[in-house]
Amino acid sequence: MAHRDDPLYIGDRKVAPESLMMSYGYLPALSEGALKCPIFQTSTFVFNSAEEGKAFFEVAYGLREREAGESLGLIYSRLNNPDLEILEDRLCLWDEAQAAAVFESGMGAIATTVLSFLRPGDRLLFSEPVYGGTQYLFRNILPQFGIETTSFRASEGLLGMERAVRHAAADGRLRMVHLETPANPTNHLVDIEGAVRLAREASGVADRDPDRPVLVSVDNTFLGPLFQHPLKLGADLVLYSLTKYVGGHSDVIAGACLGSAELIGKVKESRTFFGSMAGPWSGWLLMRSLETLKLRMTQQAANARIIADWLLEQPGVIRVYYPGHLKEGDRDWEIYRRQCHAPGGMVSFDVAGGEAGAFHLLNRLQLIKLAVSLGGTESLAQHPATMTHSDIPPEEQRQMGITESMVRLSVGVEEVEDLKADLAQAMEGLEGL
Ligand SMILES: *Cc1c(COP(=O)(O)O)cnc(C)c1O
Repeated sequence: MAHRDDPLYIGDRKVAPESLMMSYGYLPALSEGALKCPIFQTSTFVFNSAEEGKAFFEVAYGLREREAGESLGLIYSRLNNPDLEILEDRLCLWDEAQAAAVFESGMGAIATTVLSFLRPGDRLLFSEPVYGGTQYLFRNILPQFGIETTSFRASEGLLGMERAVRHAAADGRLRMVHLETPANPTNHLVDIEGAVRLAREASGVADRDPDRPVLVSVDNTFLGPLFQHPLKLGADLVLYSLTKYVGGHSDVIAGACLGSAELIGKVKESRTFFGSMAGPWSGWLLMRSLETLKLRMTQQAANARIIADWLLEQPGVIRVYYPGHLKEGDRDWEIYRRQCHAPGGMVSFDVAGGEAGAFHLLNRLQLIKLAVSLGGTESLAQHPATMTHSDIPPEEQRQMGITESMVRLSVGVEEVEDLKADLAQAMEGLEGL
């Protein structure tokens, strides 16, 4: 058999990620035979000899090239730790990434990644709307380091992105294009392959440093790692808030960046010196979460489809924003077909009565909780205009498609009839508003 010792294969059959989440990358023999990976709650690791310690540091600090098959030895938990390394190996399987780096938050992942590649004078272009924390980092923090940031609207489609990339790249300073798709909370789609093509074009212009191409990073928190694979579409880096679907139980904050071994090597170097790595306990919780990732996301997506279809028929609902409702002829339909395997578990909708109507509904929910965040086993609802997106001025919100009457729902794994019943009773009286 060609793949006899490769844990990714049984004979010639490539094993699916969900079958590997319980065991991949962990050797019980190294941990007293424990079936599950223990929590390696230790700050430092004992070397077998001074020579071994020397060899580990030579690799860690890049003082020499690694020998074939040589991996980074365990030194100190800011550099590496078994719970993080095994988690990183498992995360790679879903996106078919060469390497991954995990962080103590999604923002830790995004901030460390952009600061690994952007230098004073560089320009970053990003799609809007993006996650509020990302928006603040890009608009308010990066410019203080001499990094220029500009944006384009996800609602303006491929033409809007083309215009923005060509404009941002004209003077050769564009270094990174950052996308978030589907956009939160409007569920507009951004064309990942389109962005990759434009970035390659911009990298190829005369007198550009070939070692500093225009990188494409994609925040894949909403659909990944199950339903969208940006690396396969040509993106250079994929970012996650693992707090959301991957963690999935609303009890851990963490993030990740995935990509080629070369790029992630640079990200890990920054992580070591910024100190933004995740702790062993977070790593262990996330490994536990990964075992049920496919089950949870599949159920959440199935529930979301039922809720989204049902919302269309409710008299108090004016509009539903849900990628699963795209049909041939809609602008985002082509993008959806090319880059999404399923519409995911996020549904936004406009209710009658503007902000008062949205608050009427949110204040009456019994089972669904009124909270920001998303992707957990429980359903959550919130009001983007005054909560997650409140620092965007109202007129800009409207241009991005965020309305006063919009409610965003993160659909959980509950019995879907209970979710419908809760929404129905909370919507009573809406049409009168
Ligand atoms: C939550 C979120 C983040 C930030 O992640 P944290 O884990 O809260 O730091 C980034 N991007 C998206 C799309 C998110 O939903």
